[in-house]
Amino acid sequence: MRSEWWAWSDAWMFIGVFVGLRIAFIWLATQAMIALIPEGRTCVTCGEETLPLVHEGGWKLLGHRFHRRFCLSCAWEGVARTALPPSQRQRRRIRKTRSARSPIKR
Ligand SMILES: [Zn+2]
Repeated sequence: MRSEWWAWSDAWMFIGVFVGLRIAFIWLATQAMIALIPEGRTCVTCGEETLPLVHEGGWKLLGHRFHRRFCLSCAWEGVARTALPPSQRQRRRIRKTRSARSPIKR
């Protein structure tokens, strides 16, 4: 007879739940980090158009979803998410939020 107070089926269940929670947490943390990275071509600090930098060496690991960018007007340099080609509805929404955010009235 088994005298152990635990069984492997319970242990695997615990390990499964624990690993699942861990993976979910890491995935959420990654999504949060990605959301913090600015998207598109506009500069974070001054709102001007930024220029893409050439990826060399280790920067190639960034892949096509992220791009190093440089701002000519304020010398900001950083990583930005590559903006996906927006659909017509998304483009309208972006224009609306941009006009609401910018303090300069045109
Ligand atoms: Zn700038």
